[in-house]
Amino acid sequence: MSELKIFFNGAMVPATEARVSVFDHGFLYGDGIFEGIRAYEGRVFKLEEHLDRLFDSAKSILLDIPYTREELAEAVCATVRENGLTDAYIRLVVSRGPGDLGLDPTKCSHPSVIIIADRISLYPEELYQRGLELAAVSTRRPATDVLNPSIKSLNYLNNILAKIEANLRGLPEVVLLNHQGYVVEGTGDNIFIVRQGALITPPTYAGILNGITRQVVIALAREMGITCREENITLHDLYTADECFLTGTAAEVIPAVMCDGRVIGTGRVGPITAKVLTAFREYSRSSGVPVYDTDVATA
Ligand code: PMP
Repeated sequence: MSELKIFFNGAMVPATEARVSVFDHGFLYGDGIFEGIRAYEGRVFKLEEHLDRLFDSAKSILLDIPYTREELAEAVCATVRENGLTDAYIRLVVSRGPGDLGLDPTKCSHPSVIIIADRISLYPEELYQRGLELAAVSTRRPATDVLNPSIKSLNYLNNILAKIEANLRGLPEVVLLNHQGYVVEGTGDNIFIVRQGALITPPTYAGILNGITRQVVIALAREMGITCREENITLHDLYTADECFLTGTAAEVIPAVMCDGRVIGTGRVGPITAKVLTAFREYSRSSGVPVYDTDVATA
């Protein structure tokens, strides 16, 4: 396989030569933002929505992205093309850039903009058939007035602490509670439960990243006539739900069948979860911004 080419501040650079300064505040302080995006069959899924979220994150932390939305959209497509990929996981990172050893972001001369497009590593298909076992961990998601989880910042230590707890327990994914004790997210996913035929997911004000997959799932569910409500979820609600699944760009829609030793519903992938997963897979593979002149999916 030939070496990956990385979009690095406007140039396509071989991966081994794409190096960020040790003075970059993304490295020194986690000062920056990012997006995780997917391309399916030569089309970038929900590119506009990812760019919206990136620009919102940038605005919130007063970071000036040195490209327009159109330029960034083209740079994402160009990076996928440059690497000859049709199915890809794309990481778009904008850090504050190189500065001095102090915190002050105004001392950073220019943001670093990096786009990596690579093959995606997925959960094994067997987990989609069987469903995940979850646990609630002691790491809490920060409150919206501490570090708003709606900002997709480079500061992922909170999620990493939760992932460490997952690893210590030998689990692929865990759930985090907010400071009020409501269930809010997985380490890199949103959460839904099913109760009496309706979907329930925590509201954004509970302190979550408003996932693009979450938004698509809510829209698809409503199109299919499934009620979807944004409500706080307690651990009791989760344990006693009929079904549960997590959503995220990498995982798509992944069922969960157990949490903290409690079997969720029947302990098998439920009918609504299966319906949502199928609808999501169909939709994600039939929409998006074409990367190549000839649309790969229809060629
Ligand atoms: N929550 C967190 C903390 C995440 O990191 C992610 C992945 N970006 C998500 C939720 C899911 O968001 P999306 O569907 O946009 O990938």
